[in-house]
Amino acid sequence: MDCIFCKIVSGEIPSQIVKETKHFLAFRDINPVAPTHILIVPKMHIEKPAELASLGDSALGELFTLIQEIAENEGIAETGFRTLFNTGKDAGQEVKHLHLHIIGGRKLGRIG
Ligand code: AMP
Repeated sequence: MDCIFCKIVSGEIPSQIVKETKHFLAFRDINPVAPTHILIVPKMHIEKPAELASLGDSALGELFTLIQEIAENEGIAETGFRTLFNTGKDAGQEVKHLHLHIIGGRKLGRIG
């Protein structure tokens, strides 16, 4: 499968890795929209948030713990940050491999 995030997970394409856990890899967005802009991807190629359930019950807890750890390490846990999945064309999803954006480090505008 020709998937850029699968290639980042396998190391075929370099990335600025922030943290790796059993099911997820976190790395810096190549085109950041804020001082902190990190993507968390499941190592397995899945495309929709609902498919996270296929990783097993422990994966969801792992994901939310990872978000918090990253926010603390980036110094944005207290100032605030946004987490979001873009899903489908109306949301402007560019990469099909599921990814969660963590965006922070500046005052963000309203969503929409
Ligand atoms: P989305 O619009 O939600 O599909 O976002 C895809 C994100 O992936 C964008 O913010 C891109 O800047 C980011 N991106 C694309 N290629 C790379 C890459 N090689 N390394 C890191 N981030 C990337």
